[in-house]
Amino acid sequence: MEYLFDGVKEFNTRDYLEHKELFEKIGKNQDPHTLFIGCSDSRIVPNLITKTLPGELFVIRNIANLVPMYRTSEEFLSTTSAIEYAVKILHVDNILVCGHSNCGGCNALFMDDKQGQEIPHTHKWLELASEVKRKIEIAKIKDPAEREWKTEQLNIVEQMNHLLTYPYIKEKFEKKKINILGWYYIIETGEVFNYDTQTNVFIKIE
Ligand SMILES: [Zn+2]
Repeated sequence: MEYLFDGVKEFNTRDYLEHKELFEKIGKNQDPHTLFIGCSDSRIVPNLITKTLPGELFVIRNIANLVPMYRTSEEFLSTTSAIEYAVKILHVDNILVCGHSNCGGCNALFMDDKQGQEIPHTHKWLELASEVKRKIEIAKIKDPAEREWKTEQLNIVEQMNHLLTYPYIKEKFEKKKINILGWYYIIETGEVFNYDTQTNVFIKIE
């Protein structure tokens, strides 16, 4: 546990000082250009892979980078309210759905009922990707590695589509006032692939 406290000390004596002017500038106001929707996975570091600084990304993270369909509700909606705030109050220019390789959440789509009962909330949450599961099962992919990356990529596209169920996003998107991007990040190689909506394929950013 001590390493967490040591980390703060090192941040204060090194990293903070390195960006002192920036921290002072953004201390009273944020103006992020991008809403980054990524997986909670510990290996995903949004600022690192986009080479951005504090104040640039408004970040939502959850299991398997999922976007619930738009609905009004009396429940406490974490992802939905963060999307609302980013788009309607912060007026972000871009929404980026970033999926990744070796995603435990995507893999858990295919868990059996017994496993599902052990993590009932996760099991329920993953229903937001049930359409992805359905398409993958229809495709009957034999190779586990291929099934894995296809599930992860298809899930990114599915969640991009879910964003358009939000009336205020749809309106901005149709007026070209907001960009919706889908990225696939491969952890071990550092490669990032951008979803091309013309060809429906992920193209390596280089
Ligand atoms: Zn993941």
